Amino acid sequence: MLQASRSLALQLPSLRSLGADPFTLGVASGDPSPDGFVLWTRLAVDPTRGDGGMPTTPVAVRWEIASDPMMKTVLKHGTTAATPELGHSVHVETVGLPSNREFFYRFHAGDATSPVGRTRTAPAPHTKLDRLRFAFASCQNFEHGYYIANRDIANADVDAVVFLGDYIYEYRSKDRPRVHALPALKTLDDYRTCYAQYHADLDLQAAHAAHPWIVTFDDHEVENNWAGDIDQENDSPASFLPRRAAAFKAYYENMPLRRTSVPTGPEMQIYRKLQYGQLAQFTVVDTRQFRTDQPCDDNFKPTCDARQSPAATMMGAKQEAWFADTLATSPTQWNIIANQVMIQQLRETMHGQTVYNMDQWDGYPAARKRLTDFLAARRPSNPVFVTGDTHQTWVGNLKADFDDPHSAVVATELVGTSITSGGDGTAKTKYSDENLAANPHIVYNNDQRGYFLCEISEKQMISQLRVADKVTSRDGKMSTASRFVTESGRPGVQVLS
Ligand code: FE
Ligand code: CA
Repeated sequence: MLQASRSLALQLPSLRSLGADPFTLGVASGDPSPDGFVLWTRLAVDPTRGDGGMPTTPVAVRWEIASDPMMKTVLKHGTTAATPELGHSVHVETVGLPSNREFFYRFHAGDATSPVGRTRTAPAPHTKLDRLRFAFASCQNFEHGYYIANRDIANADVDAVVFLGDYIYEYRSKDRPRVHALPALKTLDDYRTCYAQYHADLDLQAAHAAHPWIVTFDDHEVENNWAGDIDQENDSPASFLPRRAAAFKAYYENMPLRRTSVPTGPEMQIYRKLQYGQLAQFTVVDTRQFRTDQPCDDNFKPTCDARQSPAATMMGAKQEAWFADTLATSPTQWNIIANQVMIQQLRETMHGQTVYNMDQWDGYPAARKRLTDFLAARRPSNPVFVTGDTHQTWVGNLKADFDDPHSAVVATELVGTSITSGGDGTAKTKYSDENLAANPHIVYNNDQRGYFLCEISEKQMISQLRVADKVTSRDGKMSTASRFVTESGRPGVQVLS
């Protein structure tokens, strides 16, 4: 290994001659295991360019892991190559570290040194943990505001951050406080440029540098409301799949993901599980790549026959079987499911008609019934779904039959809001009361930007909704809007304060 590292370092050009900082996109870590994690960076001396202003040759990057933030006691180090084929990104997968511990890391390229990041290994599978803290977030449209919430996440005391998708947005909006570099993303270079613009944000860099992230994508990493091999315009798979391949490649290059998620053309393995001792398991699902097309012409629509199709699927048959097996055999007391779009039924009224968001599980009621029937029959231990996408907070209960008030509660669902998407909001919308009355399984709704901070213990899970008073100016302030509790052994959630 040492031999290989040395010869690699000798073969690869130094960045010294470029005379610019290649660490403009920050550092990150992700997917903790009991003995390691992924360390990430991506070199770009000019983040405004698709190629990052980097040479067309590989560049040697040295990495170090230490037990202290001053990087005095280095425990592990090595050299890897940042190649133009992978956008000069670096993914280091470490093994052999002690479990449930804090570590610090940094990179060197040429005579440049990156900022120091902090991360953690997961506890060993047999460990009885007293508590686990995590943040979950989604939907950070760069144009819609500043990353006030990411700055708050950077300062939070958590073991991990779970990001549920819409990390980037693929189009340009009008009249927003910030502007996307490109009007629309189609090619690999386009997607790379967009990620570089997001990663150059210092608040987002701080959140990545502070904690390991567990990420999954939703629609906007590729295109609004894509479904399987079909895009929003219902173009042929032949025209959509090359774009999906470019988007997935850029996603991998820009996220702290393991080698198992390296895409093969338009296919990418993102569903997976991560265990935290005996206390909790994160099951990360993929409800985009294998889903059937949205019924009833998509978006907010009255129901139609196609909505009732028993062939409707969100996960695809293979993942659905894996999901059931993962939950049924889970060794942990709590089961956190990282999920993209809202599962709870949300009946809304528009122009005097009842409508459903066909892009959510509401568009796939047969698939949802299979999910809730499984939860009711197998009763996996304390299932809590954490969800993104809607740009509002909806806290509620999953039920075997949402239309029957006596139907049993089978799980909690916390739909987080957005980091910025939608811009400044208000605690209540003019539809909040009406929507809560029409959907009695939902206990809380809020339309401010923010994220959730969760703490799991043996007895309960306390979830805190953190919100920003505004995101359209840099001086937005965060506060706790409300707290919720799910007690162990009792499915469902209650408002605490
Ligand atoms: Fe979104
Ligand atoms: Ca979305």
